[in-house]
This record gives sequence, structure tokens and C-alpha cells, in this order.
Amino acid sequence: MTPKTARWQRSLADAFDSVDALLTYLELTPDELPILRDYPAFPLKVPRGFAARMEPGNPNDPLLRQVLPLGAELHAYPGYSRDPVGDLHAIAAPGVIHKYAGRVLLVATGGCAVHCRYCFRRNFPYAEQQLSRSKLALALDYIAERPDIHEVILSGGDPLLLSDDKLFNLLTALAGIGHIRRIRIHSRIPIVLPERMTDTLLDYLSGLAVSIVLVVHANHANELSSDVGAILNRWRRRGITLLNQSVLLAGINDNVDALCNLSEKLFGFGILPYYLHLLDKAAGVGHFEVAEDTAKQLLQRMQRTLPGYLVPKLVKECAGEPNKTSIL
Ligand SMILES: *Cc1c(COP(=O)(O)O)cnc(C)c1O
Ligand code: SF4
Repeated sequence: MTPKTARWQRSLADAFDSVDALLTYLELTPDELPILRDYPAFPLKVPRGFAARMEPGNPNDPLLRQVLPLGAELHAYPGYSRDPVGDLHAIAAPGVIHKYAGRVLLVATGGCAVHCRYCFRRNFPYAEQQLSRSKLALALDYIAERPDIHEVILSGGDPLLLSDDKLFNLLTALAGIGHIRRIRIHSRIPIVLPERMTDTLLDYLSGLAVSIVLVVHANHANELSSDVGAILNRWRRRGITLLNQSVLLAGINDNVDALCNLSEKLFGFGILPYYLHLLDKAAGVGHFEVAEDTAKQLLQRMQRTLPGYLVPKLVKECAGEPNKTSIL
């Protein structure tokens, strides 16, 4: 018997959705911060477990800075646009973004468990990407008709926001396509809402006949709390490949100590660093930019400090390119 509302769904419903409530919880005064008040399209959203990892009284906390809407978002930086990575031009079927050889990205749902202010998808027409049953059938047809597609990347939004029923139906359908060898899940939920990582979900995934790769998304070591570590270590022992992607963000992780600490902590949790992305130039995120030269220097210093497998690949996404562009 599945309860009507799972515990993780109740946690999600209970997430902070008001700046004032979050700042009060963190013992901060809204008047002292350059807060953006009017942001109906992309409001604040922060699960309580994630907020609990922030330092009370610190307006520059690296986790708070990722989620707090600031007035700087309204500043129009040159070269920043609504679709910086060309995703809208690469929609091949409903919810299917086919940009790279051998793999497609499937936008399984528009929603996220957290709203990250630097996200390029903040301007994406999510509602149009929400997959109804008939649209999903078209997406699956597209994949089934192309034997050169070997990997489906579930993305969003956050695919783990789907209910177990919907998610399991989708995974079963994908795993049943003969030429699909791998299903990759891109999700920030293992970090921000670890209660969603239930044993039911793990049992289901590890029972599929295809390889499962889970790419989580953490930008700072403080995001990796011990409950997250305990869960992910268990997932790895059950044969799920665990990788992390981060975004290089001014004022959050743009120093060599923060990046090295993140890699070390990830490894302790059974996760290897995969990509460190340069910011995608989406309207509203320019204040997070780290210059490409600075990024290269940071990576070179990481290489002098860490074993090669703990140094992520520094990449950027260029619209129209057949793969992510490596920078170092
Ligand atoms: C990033 C991305 C992928 C995956 O690229 P990898 O280099 O395989 O991680 C696939 N499709 C799209 C549209 C992407 O943006
Ligand atoms: S898509 Fe990922 S980075 Fe963007 S808001 Fe959702 S969880 Fe954050």
C-alpha cells in the first residue's frame, strides 16, 4: 500500500516559499539585503532540509546565495538572453531535446524541488514541456524509431519530482526499447530533498535491465550533509553510477579551496565530479558570472592539488555545437 502522499511529497509542500520566512528562520533582516520582491515567474523555493544546512546570521552563506532572489537579477547584462544554449531549436519531439549524437534529453517534468537563481532554465517555457500521456507517446516513438540513440537523459526540471507511478511507467517504457543501453537521471533532488531517495525507488532502479547513471548537482561542500551521504553511498553499493555536476558561481564556489573541498566530500559520498559548467548566459543570472580566464586558473590549481579523477571537466555549452565545449 502506497500512502496517498509520500513523506517526501509532504516535505516538498512544506518548503520555504517566502523570502521573509526563510530569512526569519536564518535570523537575517530582509531590509539589510538587496532582495528582489517581485518575481512571480520564478519565486523562491527552498526545502527545509536544505535551509538547515545554511549558517544562521550569514547573509553571504553559499547555499543561501544560490536561492535568494536579489535585485541584481533585473540587470540586463550584454550577451545574456532567454535561450542561451539553443534548446528551443533542438526540440525534436514533445519534451525531447536532441542535440548530441547517441543521446537525447527528455524533459520529464517542468518543476523543481528548489529554485536556483543561476539556472538557465528559469526562462524556459516549462508548462509547454509538461508531458501529457499523448505527448509522452510521441516522445517515446521518436526514441524507439532511432536505433542510434543509446542513452536517454531524464532531465527537467527535476525528473525525480514525478510520482513513483509516473516515473516507473516512464522508466519501464524506456528500458523496454532494445537500443537503449543507459538511462541517465539528472537531478538536484538527492542533494536538496534526500527523503525522495526511497528504498522503493532504489529497488526499482536497480532492478532494471539497463545501466543507471545518476548525475546529482551540488555546488558547495556544505550542501553535502551526512544524511545525503548515507543515502548515496547505499545507492552506489547497489550499482548506480554516481556523478556530480556543478556550476562555477561568483561568490559561491569561485575559489580553489571551495572547489577542492567539494571534490573531496563528493568522493567520500561515493560520487565522482563530472562537469564544472561555466554559467549559461540566461537573462537574470549575469551577477553569478566567473570570467573564463579565472575559471581556467582555478582548474589548473585544482589539478596541482587533487588526483586527476577528482578534477571535474570545465565545460561550457555553446548553442549549435555537437557537444559541450571543453575549456582546459
Ligand atoms: C548536456 C547535455 C547532454 C549530455 O551531454 P554529456 O556530455 O553526454 O553529459 C545531452 N543533451 C543535451 C541537450 C545537453 O544539454
Ligand atoms: S533545473 Fe536544476 S539548477 Fe535549474 S532550478 Fe531546477 S534544480 Fe535548480
